[in-house]
Amino acid sequence: MTATEYDIAIIGAGIVGSSLASHLAPHARVLLLDRDLAVRGSSGHNPGFVGQLNRLPPLTELARRSVRAYSTVPGGFENSGCLEVALTKPELEMLRARGALARASGMKATLVSQAEARRLAPAFVEDCVGGLHFPDDGSADPKVLAKHYQAQAASAGATLLAADVLAFKEGAVETSEGVIKAKRVAVCTGIWGTQLLPLPMAGAVVVGQGYAYSSTRRPRTASPIIRWPGVQVYGRDHGDRDGIGSYDHAPVHVPTSDIGGHSTAASAWNKAFTGALARALALLPEQTAARFYGRTLAGTGTEDAAAAIIQAREAGRAHAFNSLFQVTSDGYPLVGRVQDGVYAI
Ligand SMILES: Cc1cc2nc3c(=O)[nH]c(=O)nc-3n(C[C@H](O)[C@H](O)[C@H](O)COP(=O)(O)OP(=O)(O)OC[C@H]3O[C@@H](n4cnc5c(N)ncnc54)[C@H](O)[C@@H]3O)c2cc1C
Repeated sequence: MTATEYDIAIIGAGIVGSSLASHLAPHARVLLLDRDLAVRGSSGHNPGFVGQLNRLPPLTELARRSVRAYSTVPGGFENSGCLEVALTKPELEMLRARGALARASGMKATLVSQAEARRLAPAFVEDCVGGLHFPDDGSADPKVLAKHYQAQAASAGATLLAADVLAFKEGAVETSEGVIKAKRVAVCTGIWGTQLLPLPMAGAVVVGQGYAYSSTRRPRTASPIIRWPGVQVYGRDHGDRDGIGSYDHAPVHVPTSDIGGHSTAASAWNKAFTGALARALALLPEQTAARFYGRTLAGTGTEDAAAAIIQAREAGRAHAFNSLFQVTSDGYPLVGRVQDGVYAI
């Protein structure tokens, strides 16, 4: 048992734990623990899309404040904008309503024509009936931000420790480096939450989703983040390559036993993603899609496209992986006290 007693032990140094540590360090004795302080959890895999509009006004405000804070960190936030694309008239009406909600919340949002949508994102948009452009959205770099907040916490006096947390009980955290006294514990372990807290307390389950990167290309004028809300697909310009993700498949639950004790949020490919990604790639102009497949697929069906994704993955031409997410039953964030002195975030 170490002699120091901390006011709070924060378990997990991803974007959440690192940010919490930087906020608390000026006011308390803080210990920030992670089995790998290099930010290899979800915060290390995340394309970082920050869409600020939420149906709940406090969450819109939280996202706006986050963007303001991220923008002060060098490399922390890229203001690329976001374009939501409608494939049908009813989807366009939905975007019209979202635009009105955004403007009522003080955000900039403009309904754009098909031609304007293509002009804003020529590498991503082909067929559509229009779109909604949010010029102030963009992408954060959670790895840069987490490292920045870790450094800020350390300079305000927090202790950073690379250690695996095995368990905690009242007043103490049991780690691979020994038992450490702490009055309170904040569990910020993302998808590993259920390994330390029983599921009803962790309050969220882990699901997988396919995300793919194209082969590299020459940098071009940066594209806004693209979302096709009607078909649950999103895409991102990563500078020298493109990325695409799709939720358009039955939920793929990943049990705690499959997540393991490693520190990466990427896992084995699940074949449910192949068809979803093939449908997603069919939304893109042929030239962009070809960089995911490693060849042109003009005129071929979804089955061929699915086979091409698997081939491209196996040949190392496209990096497609199973990204693990934690989801709550209502889709909203989970923050709070789970028992005396223990908080889950
Ligand atoms: C591919 C992908 C795409 C995403 N896209 C977006 C997006 O576009 N926009 C968006 O807002 N969100 C996105 N997300 C979600 C977002 O990344 C997460 O919500 C966020 O990073 C969670 O941060 P965190 O700090 O809670 O978790 P993490 O970053 O996973 O940090 C948890 C940390 O806890 C540590 N840990 C766990 N258990 C222990 C233990 N027992 N002992 C010690 N350390 C432990 C891990 O090593 C890890 O570093 C995406 C996620 C993925 C995987």
